[in-house]
Amino acid sequence: MIDLPTEARFKILIIDDTPANIALLGLALQDEYEIQIATSGSKGLELATQDPPPDLILLDIMMPDMDGYQTCQRIKQTPELQNIPIIFVTALNEIDAEVQGLSLGAADFLVKPINIETARLRIHYQLEREGMRRELERRESSLRLAASVFAFSHDGIMITDAENNIINVNAAFSRISGYELEDVRGKNPRILKSGRQSDEFYRAMWHSLLTHNHWNGEIWNRNKNGEIYAALTSISTVKDEQGGIHHFIGIFADITLLKNQQYNLERIAHFDALTGVPNRVLLIDRIDQAIAQTQRSGNLMALCYLDLDGFKPVNDTYGHDIGDQLLIAVTRRIKECLRAGDTLARIGGDEFVLVLLDIKEGSECQTVLNRILARVAENTVLAGHSVSVSVSLGFTLYPDDLSDAETLIRHADQAMYVAKQRGKNRYQRFDPFLDQQALEHGKMLSRLEAAFANQEFVLYFQPKINMRLGKILGAEALIRWQHPLRGVLSPAEFLPQIMGTELEVTLGQWVLAQALSYLQTWQAMGMQLTISINISPAHLLNASFVDELAAQLALHPGFTPDCLELEILETAALDDMVKVTQVMHACQQLGIEFALDDFGTGYSSLTYLKTLPAKTLKIDKSFVMDMLNDAEDLAIVTGIIDLTRTFGRDVIAEGVESLQHGSKLLELGCANAQGFAIARPMPAETFIQWVKDWQPIKAWFNKD
Ligand code: C2E
Ligand code: MG
Ligand code: MG
Repeated sequence: MIDLPTEARFKILIIDDTPANIALLGLALQDEYEIQIATSGSKGLELATQDPPPDLILLDIMMPDMDGYQTCQRIKQTPELQNIPIIFVTALNEIDAEVQGLSLGAADFLVKPINIETARLRIHYQLEREGMRRELERRESSLRLAASVFAFSHDGIMITDAENNIINVNAAFSRISGYELEDVRGKNPRILKSGRQSDEFYRAMWHSLLTHNHWNGEIWNRNKNGEIYAALTSISTVKDEQGGIHHFIGIFADITLLKNQQYNLERIAHFDALTGVPNRVLLIDRIDQAIAQTQRSGNLMALCYLDLDGFKPVNDTYGHDIGDQLLIAVTRRIKECLRAGDTLARIGGDEFVLVLLDIKEGSECQTVLNRILARVAENTVLAGHSVSVSVSLGFTLYPDDLSDAETLIRHADQAMYVAKQRGKNRYQRFDPFLDQQALEHGKMLSRLEAAFANQEFVLYFQPKINMRLGKILGAEALIRWQHPLRGVLSPAEFLPQIMGTELEVTLGQWVLAQALSYLQTWQAMGMQLTISINISPAHLLNASFVDELAAQLALHPGFTPDCLELEILETAALDDMVKVTQVMHACQQLGIEFALDDFGTGYSSLTYLKTLPAKTLKIDKSFVMDMLNDAEDLAIVTGIIDLTRTFGRDVIAEGVESLQHGSKLLELGCANAQGFAIARPMPAETFIQWVKDWQPIKAWFNKD
């Protein structure tokens, strides 16, 4: 049976100008149908166009104004109404009119006088037919919709029969998989298999399809060209009325791009972009796994910290590209020394961590490390440059060192630091005693931070004079710690502890600020003196050093910058020539000059000296103090003085402990001096008094 609406009754519109006919028909049908009546063609049209339109029209032919034919024509011309079945009501003598009526699209005829029963049957039949037509129309449109979903879907659709042979695929399927319908019709979808999923995966999928009629998930498939793609897939089982499998519908979206992005993100999160080895995040994970595995196997695991020696100069000299290539080359060489289960991770610029598994004894680890030392030290030719670095290694063995991942890294790092101190290009095993020292160092550091906050640091001043002219040149500012219990402490007791910490720079900034404010006070008192301050290498190379210096100078207007001199250690300057030279030039732009402190203890190479823009060389006190009885030291002092003449630099000697020292220096051509023979370092107030009281030293005055 067709699906006729039961609640809403059919609406029948009767158009007839003869009230008698209408009354009879209307009465007879009103129980069954909703009846509407119009007494003229134009009224009928008006009613028909109301919403909802009638389901059937009974139309009289003979009417004044607009007759039945005209009315019918108008109805058929109206698109919303054209499908409404029209039954003409004719008188017997109008029988010829049937032909005309049918040609206008009439569905049937009733002949007057109307037999109610015939009318009822005919009406019923027409309505039933109209119902069927509507149902067909509905199905057709839903089929059209389904077909367009299938055809235009962006997702691939595959339909298989009960035996899981492909019956139909859509255009998106062909686009994604590369297979046209002809390629796959009748075939099993396993032709798409990439081999990436296990049999177990497919078993679980079928289990779900057969028990829950549905499965969804991600499948790696292979396209016609053999390339692998990721498909986010949903498969449904379609059953027939008896519950048997009729077919399967698979819908899938190509998520390869998404998967690749996800993969890349994971790589970025876990691997070092430059060298491709694991980064710190993945490393910690690997160490945790290695610890667990070592506990099971009962073997040893070595955790090594590697830091390249001399990498920075390569970077500075040849540029970052070469530096990067070197890192890649070094990574490859280290990896060549490892076994399959070992991990190499890059955790910083030129810092790596190595996890060596399944070691039976310590010597086995050392064999690997020796190999690494040799491989890394090999010369590399990059873009025509022959570059070489070495590596310093620290390692610790688990479970001898029963610590967690982070602590193991810290221990290996400490050991690496010792390897560096002992001359680089070597390995060093972690020593728990050193760790104890490190802990104490930590305590000391917090004590020093507190001391800084409590303003326990002061500057002492040691005069510098020109012996021959009998003139005070200025003073070197030397830091002291006024320890509440231990009294005045010299730098050797605390400066090494803050090396490489933030406090090193903070303290350096404080010294600079202090020195400048003393200078201003002295200048106000009419004392034209210079102050030399010692700048630690880390402070000098701090990115904001020059800006801070400029800012400090700006705080002291009217102050002549040539009163300030910066002393930097010769050794520090040589460590990072390129950068140090840059900073020195920038400071000179501000009017500040440099002295190379402890000169003679570095390489003192002529080439170095030529490039470093230092105004003054300060001969290290160890040579000066011993020159009177050590010919070699005397030769060095003489050599340095000659050097300054050749290069047009100033020279000053420190460690002048006696009149003889001074006399000897004058004889050698060095008139500027600093030392206990002149004065020891002293507090600022004492220094002011000292300047006022000072008399030239006769033994040196006007001597050559
Ligand atoms: P330096 O810059 O070479 O300073 C000279 C050191 O030699 C001073 O030691 C001074 O007391 C000592 N000295 C001077 N004349 C004589 C002498 O005739 N005989 C002997 N035996 N020694 C003499 P001090 O004050 O203990 O400073 C040691 C080092 O600490 C300095 O060596 C300098 O490198 C560093 N230093 C001192 N103050 C500062 C500072 O404010 N900042 C930085 N970064 N380092 C500082
Ligand atoms: Mg100094
Ligand atoms: Mg010195």
